Amino acid sequence: MISESVLSRFVSIVGADHAVRDAKDIAPYLKEPRDLFHGSSPLVLRPGSAEDVSQILALATETGTPIVPQSGNTGHVGGQVPVEGQPAVIVSLARLNRIRAIDSSANTITVDSGCILHDIQTAADAADRLFPLSLGSEGSCRIGGNLSTNAGGTGVLAYGNTRHLCLGVEVVLPTGEIWNGLRKLKKDNTGYDLRDLFIGAEGTLGIVTGAVLRLFPKPKGRQVAIAGLKSPRDALSFFEQAEKQCAGELTGFEIMPRIGIEFTVAHIPGARDPLSSRHDWYVLVEISSPESMEAATSKMERLLESAFEAGLVDDAVIAQSEAQNATFWLIRESMSEAQKPEGASIKHDVSVPVSSIPEFMEEADRAVIKAMPEARIVAFGHMGDGNIHYNISQPKGGDGASHQARRHEIHNIVYGIALAMGGSISAEHGIGQMKRDRLAAIRQPIEIDLMRRIKKAFDPAGIMNPGKIVSLS
Ligand SMILES: Cc1cc2nc3c(=O)[nH]c(=O)nc-3n(C[C@H](O)[C@H](O)[C@H](O)COP(=O)(O)OP(=O)(O)OC[C@H]3O[C@@H](n4cnc5c(N)ncnc54)[C@H](O)[C@@H]3O)c2cc1C
Repeated sequence: MISESVLSRFVSIVGADHAVRDAKDIAPYLKEPRDLFHGSSPLVLRPGSAEDVSQILALATETGTPIVPQSGNTGHVGGQVPVEGQPAVIVSLARLNRIRAIDSSANTITVDSGCILHDIQTAADAADRLFPLSLGSEGSCRIGGNLSTNAGGTGVLAYGNTRHLCLGVEVVLPTGEIWNGLRKLKKDNTGYDLRDLFIGAEGTLGIVTGAVLRLFPKPKGRQVAIAGLKSPRDALSFFEQAEKQCAGELTGFEIMPRIGIEFTVAHIPGARDPLSSRHDWYVLVEISSPESMEAATSKMERLLESAFEAGLVDDAVIAQSEAQNATFWLIRESMSEAQKPEGASIKHDVSVPVSSIPEFMEEADRAVIKAMPEARIVAFGHMGDGNIHYNISQPKGGDGASHQARRHEIHNIVYGIALAMGGSISAEHGIGQMKRDRLAAIRQPIEIDLMRRIKKAFDPAGIMNPGKIVSLS
């Protein structure tokens, strides 16, 4: 229970206009995309500067008040909402939304952490540069959330995940101290990498208030195709061929099952079946050329020809315009959303070595169907990164609650198979509160102990996002 007098001290830092006290107005900050977590909060603060954040965290440490940082509230593991039974003050970074500077020579953009990802992409584009981080949630997620979850998305194959796109950060520590680490250096071997500690920390070590991000030359041509194939094994061989033929110009390689295409066509406005015949599996390929659209198209044609010759691909279509490029990506990016009208879904964001993807799909399918014969498996994702969203929709006409009630049993099966192949239980969404106990069970004791020691060193009072990633004891 946080006392009224402490709450009013918090309010006076940001001013009443930027403090949310009414339960009805707080409710949207507590509702996360999957509706799995139902924590509470007596107060949401909307600071307007790093100095405001500094005063908030200093007061939180002084009074032992739990703080939950929140950016776009699109996270999938419940990191951005308080744990049930542990009310916390939510600090929304949405007002920190300034693009601070673009340096076209150094190819960097310096931003406030509350900038919406899409706004950063647009600002880069206006400067004739590319900021390649791209997620289905890019219209609402904010860069501080992307950094704190080390988000992945569709650009990882060519450009890396958020960690690879960040050169420097500005962070407010739980003590209220502000660390200005807004460096633009590609090379800087001067001791422990403090920046990397905050990337992927999910708000458990401090609050990110600014960042320096890497920009890239804008490709002159981008060509997208969708191919129909028989199996993930053929998709893997096709991927190997694409990597060999396209080297650094292969910027997307996503796998999708037939059922995912059907859900998307049925439920997403504007989505169409991309090929005239049905196929068990589909791959979306994107090639980006630094030269021209024609160069991207002819590379795609050569790639598809050789894949046909090798018998890897049964049919394919190349987008005829930018608009069709976007329609093809819409199919892939809406696949998760398209599952919603089909009822409850048990979701997994796993990764395995790319070479193990076919084996993972086969083993997981066998084991899941054995446990749940009517399950509808929608396994899709960033094949080129070894990252599969292995989702299981409830049986047709079945009951959503009883499907969800079996999620721990199904998680054990799917995570067990991924781990046995040297994989991970969280490829890009993080740990949050959803996977905290699993993390403790799968990482070596020394790793958990090191994480706790880091947490204690930064946040001895345990005010930062309690109940997420690791507990203090
Ligand atoms: C439709 C959809 C598609 C998605 N696609 C992808 C995808 O392809 N790849 C992917 O990786 N994720 C994806 N996600 C998940 C989500 O969008 C990402 O995890 C995103 O990075 C979260 O950003 P956010 O601004 O919403 O952060 P939030 O959800 O608000 O917060 C996420 C975590 O970061 C912490 N945090 C937030 N801001 C700060 C800060 N400034 N300082 C310190 N800690 C902070 C929070 O406490 C929380 O632990 C998707 C989500 C949706 C809804």
